[in-house]
Amino acid sequence: MRREHTIRMNPFDREPRALKKQVESAVKRVLKSGHYILGPEVEAFEHEWSTFTGTHHTVGVGNGLDALELGMRALGIGPGDEVITTAMTAFATVLAIHRVGATPIIADIEPETALLSLESARGLVTEKTKAVIFVHLYGRAGNMPEWLAFTKEHGLHLIEDCAQAHGARFNGRHVGSFGVFGAFSFYPTKNLGGVGDGGALVSNDQDLADKVRILRNYGQQNRYEHVEWGVNSRLDEMQAAILLARLEWLPIMTARRQRNAQVLRSNLDSLSGCKLLAAASKPEQDVSHLFVVRVRDRETVMRKLSSTGIETLIHYPIPSHRQAALGGESSVPELLVSAEQHSSECLTLPSSPWTTRPEIESLISRMSSVIEALGN
Ligand SMILES: *Cc1c(COP(=O)(O)O)cnc(C)c1O
Repeated sequence: MRREHTIRMNPFDREPRALKKQVESAVKRVLKSGHYILGPEVEAFEHEWSTFTGTHHTVGVGNGLDALELGMRALGIGPGDEVITTAMTAFATVLAIHRVGATPIIADIEPETALLSLESARGLVTEKTKAVIFVHLYGRAGNMPEWLAFTKEHGLHLIEDCAQAHGARFNGRHVGSFGVFGAFSFYPTKNLGGVGDGGALVSNDQDLADKVRILRNYGQQNRYEHVEWGVNSRLDEMQAAILLARLEWLPIMTARRQRNAQVLRSNLDSLSGCKLLAAASKPEQDVSHLFVVRVRDRETVMRKLSSTGIETLIHYPIPSHRQAALGGESSVPELLVSAEQHSSECLTLPSSPWTTRPEIESLISRMSSVIEALGN
């Protein structure tokens, strides 16, 4: 039995009645239409998502992994090519590189932000390098002008993994609009999520978007004309309709995440045993997908928080380059010191749009006493 006062990571059941009603009417609309795959809802969502992100094209696909994979396939990235990405990400980022037949090259992070380190990436560029996948981790937009300059200098594609950063901006521009393409996931727990899997690729490159549109649908150009070895990865009408409804709420949900994060940040800042990531210089740069701190003796902290009904998670306990699936496939020419350190200390505290202010306050006080008791 869940305790009455459990502070959960994702209390979806608390969403406002008005939002639930909009989602229900979206579902009814699709059921009534009898059109379930690649119809008006997907088209409308693609249009709205491009408007929202300030990009020319959106292609709805089955999930975030496929958005990355199909985008890279459309760019012709494949066997013999190397793609640099971060040690600290959801493994799907690395998996996408493997899926296209390329070799993932794992770089270190900046310790202050946990984002991919430019210096580390620079040291890994070879003549085989074709692209960099920058991950806007935890909702934090990276410094894209800097990454654009770097990738341009080396003739590489800049790919943005925006799965955790819906709506984050840098210099007023949305993540996903800087690189050759951006990949979004609409997995339920993301800042914009459906009630199942979903994803999208955004791009300003018409040819790339057209190619992904073909790839997602069996490689068909016209019905029964297969010009590519495509896949089946289509955002479905039901998810698209739900996403359209939930998109209206995204700014509200983001503001609530940011408010919670700000309260947590200002209160936990003074706890010497709990290290915060560096604050973004502008609110637009951080959509606060996850509130991550670093603590020593993480297992004890988690256990003590859990014993008073506070859920926590770890993003991520195993850095990319240590995953068994890689089986030595990824070359790690240097020790990824910052990633090792971060993955051993990082702890994600519950901070969803629907986490209440009293919950945030009780989280702060519980966290303070646990950390102080540890004498950190
Ligand atoms: C969630 C996530 C993905 C994968 O998205 P799916 O829709 O689950 O395939 C990729 N990259 C990052 C950084 C993610 O957080």
